[in-house]
Amino acid sequence: MRIIDRSVFVGPSLYAHFPVIRLELDLERLEDWPTGKLGPAFVDALIEAVPGLAEHGCSYRTPGGLIRRMKEGEGTWLGHVLEHVAIELQNMAGEDVTFGKTRSIDGRPGVYSVVYEYAQREEGIEAGELALKLLRSLLPAELRSADAIPEDWNWPDARDAFIRYAQRRALGPSTMSLVKAAEERNIPWLRLNEQSLVQLGHGKYQQRIQATVTGKTPHIAVELASDKEETNKILGSLGLPVPRQELVQSEGAARRAARRIGFPVVTKPYNGNHGRGISIRLTSDEEVVEGFLKAKEISRSVIVETYLEGDDHRLLVVNGELVAATKRTPGHVVGDGTHTIRELVEIVNQDPRRGIGHEKVLTRIELDAQAEMMMARVDVTADTVPEAGRIIYLRSTANLSTGGTATDVTDIIHPDNREMAVRAIKAIGLDVGGVDFLSTNIAESYKTIGGGICEVNAAPGFRMHVAPSEGKPRDVAGPVIDMLFPQGTPSRVPIAAITGTNGKTTTSRMLAHIVKMAGYTPGLTTTDGVYIDGQRTVEGDMTGPVSARMVLADPQIDFAVLETARGGLLRAGMGVPKVDVGAVLNVQSDHLGMKGIDTLEQLAEVKRIVVEVAEDCAVLNADDPNVLKMGGYTDAKVICYVTMNPSHGLVREHIRAGGRACALEGGVNGQMITLYDKGSHIPLLWTHLIPATLEGKALHNVQNAMFAAAMAFSMGLKLDAIRAGLRTFDSTFFQAPGRMNVFNEHPFKVLFDYGHNAHAVAAMADLAKRLDVSGRRLVVVAGPGDRRDEDLREIARAVAGGFDHYICRRDDGLRGRAPDEVPKLIAATLREHGVPDERISLIPDEQEAIDAGLRMAQPGDVLLIFADALVRSWKQVIKFKPEGAPEKAP
Ligand code: ATP
Ligand code: ATP
Ligand code: MG
Ligand code: MG
Repeated sequence: MRIIDRSVFVGPSLYAHFPVIRLELDLERLEDWPTGKLGPAFVDALIEAVPGLAEHGCSYRTPGGLIRRMKEGEGTWLGHVLEHVAIELQNMAGEDVTFGKTRSIDGRPGVYSVVYEYAQREEGIEAGELALKLLRSLLPAELRSADAIPEDWNWPDARDAFIRYAQRRALGPSTMSLVKAAEERNIPWLRLNEQSLVQLGHGKYQQRIQATVTGKTPHIAVELASDKEETNKILGSLGLPVPRQELVQSEGAARRAARRIGFPVVTKPYNGNHGRGISIRLTSDEEVVEGFLKAKEISRSVIVETYLEGDDHRLLVVNGELVAATKRTPGHVVGDGTHTIRELVEIVNQDPRRGIGHEKVLTRIELDAQAEMMMARVDVTADTVPEAGRIIYLRSTANLSTGGTATDVTDIIHPDNREMAVRAIKAIGLDVGGVDFLSTNIAESYKTIGGGICEVNAAPGFRMHVAPSEGKPRDVAGPVIDMLFPQGTPSRVPIAAITGTNGKTTTSRMLAHIVKMAGYTPGLTTTDGVYIDGQRTVEGDMTGPVSARMVLADPQIDFAVLETARGGLLRAGMGVPKVDVGAVLNVQSDHLGMKGIDTLEQLAEVKRIVVEVAEDCAVLNADDPNVLKMGGYTDAKVICYVTMNPSHGLVREHIRAGGRACALEGGVNGQMITLYDKGSHIPLLWTHLIPATLEGKALHNVQNAMFAAAMAFSMGLKLDAIRAGLRTFDSTFFQAPGRMNVFNEHPFKVLFDYGHNAHAVAAMADLAKRLDVSGRRLVVVAGPGDRRDEDLREIARAVAGGFDHYICRRDDGLRGRAPDEVPKLIAATLREHGVPDERISLIPDEQEAIDAGLRMAQPGDVLLIFADALVRSWKQVIKFKPEGAPEKAP
């Protein structure tokens, strides 16, 4: 049994509308060993190793269902079991994932497609690997392959290592609570690094957090809070309760300071955290010196300050309001008269919240040097049996990370103390801050019973508030998110996704151009690169999830247009969980037979994902039967059909029923792009006014323009912006290399395009036919070597009959074919379709073929060139000097 392929889908895919991992698992000889045959001992051992599986309902949908499924009759196959284990392992690491689906793959006996949901990429991958190892280790000896499991491997260690690995990568509790609060408010988020830096919201609406520091937290406030002396002065000067404090650098100075302040005192490092180096309640010169030295190990200067009686409280202030108050108790045990302190610690640590997998709620207490010291102070040892009810502190400070506990006291805090905390945080200037306040009773005013602020914390942890060990959990993350995104502020940018076989880039660019005309700053991803506000920021094929993320993270953009190609969909799924408007232009046979996509129906299923996740509107080509059918697969509020056929029956009916559509309507003056919506009829623009349509003759660009218009309209853009956008969109080589570029500077006209499938080639051939030409029509044609023979013949058929001369060439990259195989195949097909021999030239090399075309062209001719090496070929076209032509001035 082995994993032969793995895909990690980051967004909607063929398998689910959320992130899943898909394994191709070859059971090999285990295909003959379903769980029924492996026997109940195997199942029982599995349940013992992963007890949570007992809860999986599987197809029975009730706890115990999976066990039943494994034990009944022949049972189930190991691929399916692996799916459940991979899910349960993630559950054990604290993730909330449930979805899985395992199917055998047609025509590949013993090979299964195992799909399971994941929460975090690396953890999800590891869960699958570990599940595989576990299953292998539980197999009877004779079925175990020799190399499978290393000698020193054992399940409990591997399991714990996995859980730790998962938690190291997981967001910390504070960040997690903020992300959850954002999700509850439908605010999207993106993790920006392996730590706790997170983007909330898209594009220009984004806010960032790093744990509980927000993009609005002033740097100067953070600096102040981390300077305990400065903080003490500022708070004291405003009349807030603070201990008397002195900063010292020597033992002598420490002793003198303590005497001035008055015993008992506290010593602490000037730059400290997590309670390190702090000594509490020092009552003699000797203790002060000892405390000084300990603090000195951490920081050059040491603070000596008044010891404040009472319990530690953390008062959390967000956006000028106290949102939670927690009493913190240092790690301790309570005597019961029978157990030793060592045993009591064991008992406390057995609390599952302190165990592996829950380390982030409570931490285990360690009997270390500090514990020894604390015990020594009250004359006990680890072997003492304290009397019932006696509290033995094992820590001097109340940090949760050293085993402390937290009790929520938000409901009982005295209003004076509440106000004091708010003032203190305001004085330091934090938007999110924690006041450490010592008081013998938080329910009474500090003005009556005393108490003081020992510290102000920037980036206060939320764990003690959202998951206190005692008392009511508080939603402290919500107020932070509400501060970053006050009611009514946007957090999402509109997202449009465009897919299809041909015209994606052109349509995406048209839409982005309209968007810009409407005053937005679009982010656009295409096969040519990423464009921010019309400027290309990254070159290359950028149609996968990485580029979608890149655009949504860009702090400038307020609109996203995503060209979505089949490759990315199959490899990694969509880069966004949903889109506002999704469009499918066409589904044509290009690149069939690749990556398990053999039929048009399968290809349609891939492209359909874009409309499945469209929320507002699905824009569909009603003239393409494979696209038309997709209407049944979207939950979008509206379907908008695009048709070039004004009497399309279904579309007419849709319009009559108040539906949305974009249709091409003819008149004496030309063709009008017309929108219909809710019974209204909106003439938008004459096609001949759109330069990219070459006076309305380039029907493929008419269609692309209609899609761009329909999408823009569906996203609420103004009609004038749509018109202005289409009228000013051009298709020069500089803007859109290889997309119907026209060169008019020679005595003949050159059409330059990189169409590389029959559908695209036919679109250009149709254009050549429609142009008014006084001379002949010539074409330089080819097809990519890695397409099937039938696809190449189809390309030849798309030009056959439309031209006076045909030059057949090949691309530089042979992609597995002999040097003149492609041109020969095309030429042969042309002949079969009645093109006489003398009208066909076979010139394999691209440069030579284009050169021959240029030489052959006479004034008044049209030369259509399908090019592959775009830059080189375009240069060749513009540099060409027709014979006898006068030298042009440079
Ligand atoms: P943290 O990282 O948890 O904020 P820290 O290293 O910044 O800790 P402080 O917050 O100054 O240190 O002190 C830690 C703990 O020590 C306090 O929560 C409190 O329990 C105790 N403590 C500090 N100063 C005093 C004081 N003046 N009187 C009594 N106890 C104190
Ligand atoms: P790719 O898959 O290479 O990214 P694409 O879908 O992004 O292609 P475009 O770059 O816009 O498509 O256009 C590629 C070629 O397809 C054009 O040069 C033209 O030959 C043809 N084409 C463009 N739009 C259409 C259309 N609506 N119908 C048919 N063919 C088209
Ligand atoms: Mg502190
Ligand atoms: Mg493209």
